[in-house]
Amino acid sequence: MVFFNFPFWRLCLLSLPLASSLTVPQQPLTAASEENISEVTQDLAKDDSAFNITDYTSPDEWNPTKFDYDVVIVGGGPGGLAASMSLARVARTSLLYDSQEYRNEQTRYMHDVLGQDGQVPLKFRTAVRQQIDELYPDYSFWATRKTKVMGIIPLEKGFRVYDDRGGTVTAKRIILATGVKDVLPNKPGFAESFGRGVFWCPWCDGHDYKNRKMVVYGKLASAIGSALNIRKLTTDITIVTGGPISKEDKDEAEARWPGWETVIKKTFNIPIRENDITKVERTTTNMEPKDDEYKVHLNGGTPNPLITNGMLISVPTTQTSSLHKQLRLEMDGKSVKVKKNMESSVGGVYVVGDANNDSSTNAYHAMWSAKRACVDAHVSMSKQEYLDAVPEAMAAAAGGDKEFYRLQLEELELQIGSDVEQMYQALGG
Ligand SMILES: Cc1cc2nc3c(=O)[nH]c(=O)nc-3n(C[C@H](O)[C@H](O)[C@H](O)COP(=O)(O)OP(=O)(O)OC[C@H]3O[C@@H](n4cnc5c(N)ncnc54)[C@H](O)[C@@H]3O)c2cc1C
Repeated sequence: MVFFNFPFWRLCLLSLPLASSLTVPQQPLTAASEENISEVTQDLAKDDSAFNITDYTSPDEWNPTKFDYDVVIVGGGPGGLAASMSLARVARTSLLYDSQEYRNEQTRYMHDVLGQDGQVPLKFRTAVRQQIDELYPDYSFWATRKTKVMGIIPLEKGFRVYDDRGGTVTAKRIILATGVKDVLPNKPGFAESFGRGVFWCPWCDGHDYKNRKMVVYGKLASAIGSALNIRKLTTDITIVTGGPISKEDKDEAEARWPGWETVIKKTFNIPIRENDITKVERTTTNMEPKDDEYKVHLNGGTPNPLITNGMLISVPTTQTSSLHKQLRLEMDGKSVKVKKNMESSVGGVYVVGDANNDSSTNAYHAMWSAKRACVDAHVSMSKQEYLDAVPEAMAAAAGGDKEFYRLQLEELELQIGSDVEQMYQALGG
């Protein structure tokens, strides 16, 4: 194999075979409920970026003859769950890992998903797991609850996955449905209010604030865009720009929204406050969306604080997992770059849902992109199984063209070989 010549691989050969005797405890999807995880809960402070590939790789594990699963799915949000079901439908086995750090953890209800509008996210996940468990117990498996994948190492024809409980499994394909996190302003009240009146997605939460008071918080140009996006729901909107509007802010707003000053302030009667927010304070104890009311404390001006029912914010995001760094996946800004089939720059590793660069972050997209990845993974595995099973004699007996099959096999091996080769080149520096 070409990659055995790489200095980096020689380094791996010298390392200890730590993982060979370990296994992953697996359960049916519904064996432990999310509410009752005390027996398996553990400190998840361990960071997957700390995983050191050279501590784990050993030569006898490089080319297993049999894989534990067809696919390992990392992530138990809508993307990961959709992948679990889709693979089972074509009798592909999968093991799903879930560290339970869902992006919409704090939101009370999910919306704009057919048949699930107004559903509690926890109930949605539980119902999906129950259904998968009942219908596909032979194919869909679940690593013990709250288990984090720490490392993924490419093998000759698949991957070895390591978790934070010391378990390891092999799989032919990987689907990362690892999601993103919202980076909230580091100011009192934001973290507690997020998903409970403070939000970024008009489709998800906007309808709860129909004809109610809304604050839009962000830099001028983007705040104008956000305000326009909720104006059909309510006209009682105040923009807070985070501080004095600079000349650059004005130029940017003028370029995106020519005539904004007149339209926003006079025609649409939306006041613009050139202050920053110092604190967000909930003034009601009931937690239903209809009860939402906040005092938004500003660093100057009157009236202060502003009273509002909801606040639309625009915040950056970061990848929830570090596996993309470890696997050296090509990025598009903060998102993992994928092709149309959801495959990343490393062959056999798919990235679905919020984590990829489709520029779409909602439950539908997570489920759809997972479906697309599963179709591609299944078809590519089927193709490989076929090619593996075609001995030259059979080709001849069927009157087939031996040369054709030989070339196909060679091409496939080359393709897989060079994916892995590229990866080891990157890892080896
Ligand atoms: C406040 C709020 C409200 C929202 N409301 C809606 C709504 O109403 N409708 C809608 O369509 N969308 C809504 N969204 C968006 C929606 O939540 C996301 O688009 C969706 O959750 C993305 O799904 P995902 O599977 O890609 O990621 P996530 O749901 O974030 O799941 C990521 C999964 O990966 C796991 N994970 C990460 N790293 C590892 C690792 N190393 N090992 C094991 N597991 C790992 C996490 O634990 C988690 O299970 C909302 C978002 C927010 C923030």
